[in-house]
Amino acid sequence: MTEIIKTEAFVIKVRKYGESSKIVSLYSEKFGKINAIAKGARKPKSKFANCLDIFSLVSLVIYKKTTTHLHLISDCDLIKSYYKISENLDKYEIALKIFELIYITLHEEEENKKLFDLLKRTMQNLDKINENVNNLYFHFLIKFGENFGYAYNFERCAKCNTNIIGAGNDGKKIVFDFSRGGPLCSKCETVVMQPQIINLGILKILNKFESVNDGLELTNIRLNSDEINEIEKFLFGYLRYHISGLRELKSQKILKKLK
Ligand SMILES: [Zn+2]
Repeated sequence: MTEIIKTEAFVIKVRKYGESSKIVSLYSEKFGKINAIAKGARKPKSKFANCLDIFSLVSLVIYKKTTTHLHLISDCDLIKSYYKISENLDKYEIALKIFELIYITLHEEEENKKLFDLLKRTMQNLDKINENVNNLYFHFLIKFGENFGYAYNFERCAKCNTNIIGAGNDGKKIVFDFSRGGPLCSKCETVVMQPQIINLGILKILNKFESVNDGLELTNIRLNSDEINEIEKFLFGYLRYHISGLRELKSQKILKKLK
């Protein structure tokens, strides 16, 4: 059976297919991750020209089949191309990492409107700003994890609820428990099997990041390169702890070589 559907979607991966076609992976508003073929999309005068490129937000009409996971795109309107993101290496890296993360972690055809909206807002913000862009990535990683059901708490001991970020200097070492999604106070820290050590200063920054709904509110926070590396390692480590089989992102390795 085939149904005709219309949905907004981001193009998360593009592959050439045959002489002139493209197979695209999409993250769609109504059906989550789906794969579809656009026949003749690489011909210069194709109706899909300039529409199905990576990062693009498009409005699609798709013949969605129930018997296969490869659907057929019949029409495509470009809503926003986001090609400008590719002109800035930092922004390009962030967008690639986000799209790869979605591609490798999500199952096909699972609608998740909240995640779609998070992606949409993150891309809009990434397009808009040029400074402290990593903050948008970290905000996305936190909200992405929470969307999966792995909530964070950066404020209180995950075992006894004692306030942790209220006392001590920023260099103080804090034990963080990935399995509980929160820090542990000095009395409780012995219970954790795989302790993650994090500075109190970083914990405070992450608490701020977690508390906002729109990453744009974070773009005036300037982090140094040590903080950026530590936060990225921490947040990605948290996702890897919870999402089994999540490997390191390829985009990360490729972009590091370019820089
Ligand atoms: Zn405690």
